[in-house]
Amino acid sequence: MDYFVNKNSQLTGIHKIHKETCTRMPNKCNKIHLGKFYTDYAAKDEARKYYANSGYCSYCCKDNKPERY
Ligand SMILES: [Zn+2]
Repeated sequence: MDYFVNKNSQLTGIHKIHKETCTRMPNKCNKIHLGKFYTDYAAKDEARKYYANSGYCSYCCKDNKPERY
């Protein structure tokens, strides 16, 4: 599964991590391709290299425990 991180942060300052299949995916110029990962956790490790305050999208990564914002 390919993962992406939104270049634009939420109002909370969180940069959301999405799977390629997500319907809430930001448009092409507003996201960074993180690469292919087997777990959301691995994708988040990669996202943290870009944004220290990254978090899972609540639509496509909802299987994870909610982040504390
Ligand atoms: Zn998503």
